[in-house]
Amino acid sequence: MKLGLYIHIPFCRQKCLYCDFPSHDNLAHLYQDYIDALCREIAEQGRRFAGWVVDTVYIGGGTPTVLPSELLGRVFASLAAAFSLEPAVEITVEANPGTIDLPLLKALRAWGVNRLSFGVQTFVPHLLPLLGRVHTAEQGIEAVELARAAGFDNINLDLMYGLPEQRQADVADSLSRATELGVPHLSVYGLKVEEGTPFAVSHAAGKLALPDETEEEAMYDLVTAFLRQAGYRRYEISNYCLSGYECRHNLKYWHYQPFLGLGAAAYSFVDGVRWANTPQVTEYIQAQRQGALAVHDREVLDRQTQITEFIFLALRTAAGLDSGIFQERFGISFWDAYRATIDTLSQRGLVERCGNRLRLTDLGMKFGNIVFASFLPDKA
Ligand code: SF4
Repeated sequence: MKLGLYIHIPFCRQKCLYCDFPSHDNLAHLYQDYIDALCREIAEQGRRFAGWVVDTVYIGGGTPTVLPSELLGRVFASLAAAFSLEPAVEITVEANPGTIDLPLLKALRAWGVNRLSFGVQTFVPHLLPLLGRVHTAEQGIEAVELARAAGFDNINLDLMYGLPEQRQADVADSLSRATELGVPHLSVYGLKVEEGTPFAVSHAAGKLALPDETEEEAMYDLVTAFLRQAGYRRYEISNYCLSGYECRHNLKYWHYQPFLGLGAAAYSFVDGVRWANTPQVTEYIQAQRQGALAVHDREVLDRQTQITEFIFLALRTAAGLDSGIFQERFGISFWDAYRATIDTLSQRGLVERCGNRLRLTDLGMKFGNIVFASFLPDKA
């Protein structure tokens, strides 16, 4: 049985103004205790999942690379001791360009990391401080060069559009930089103003100069056309890559396959059960010290919920939903169960049938929410 591991490092050097992820910029005094707790959890879960083979590991956050390298090194040593890692395991580490140097990247490589994901967001210098990012545009470029010097070729850059004061030319500029750098994977997200963030406060006060809806849609169109032209294949709504560089870990999420989350706030999904560790860092540390698992939210998903989630996630991918896998998993025909919904969405040009698969059209990718809502149990 194959398993993906997600490891959460809930620390950042500075909190970005738009970010609602479970990460903190004022807990450096807990780094050591947190890694002690995380290593305990890794050891314990390694015992529980003894029969499983780990084929992907994703260390995210937060910013894993804010940790001193000796603490990061302990995480990798614990993983190797506790879990059975497949020889070709994909190991990704998220990094912020302002938090790396060559020795750290070389150390990551030596610990078996073979994929890096840099949160660049934009290469336009004056936009970065507006986001509260700690790095500069030059550091974004330098990060890729350092990664290559350390022996990495599988590199992702996160980019964003719909940012305050961003124009279409800025989006094109960032895409040009990224593709000229030749990185094989790009994740491109539209900004969402999330509740509880400084951006939400500025937005409510009318002080956030966001592109309007038409402008944002034009940016979306620009991204998809630019990357297609540059030879990047869109394999998921927000993810593009050169041939062979799909993120295997993220594909697990979209293929509804099992993954185990370790660390504060980390989610797991195994055998139809989803659970989350407490997002409170001190509570997580305490629980691990007492030999408990710090789970604060556990849900056994009923069959209908699993069917709906399977459809949503599969349709996010360019390959779409495989009706054979659906039938095998749920014992019913996807085409029979959703005939009316599929017909309506096809007539609107949002989905298309391709052999035994149903997938989003280009229009469907753009208006994915309409498609997903149509498959909700009370709508389908
Ligand atoms: S670096 Fe990432 S996780 Fe940290 S605050 Fe910024 S967006 Fe959030």
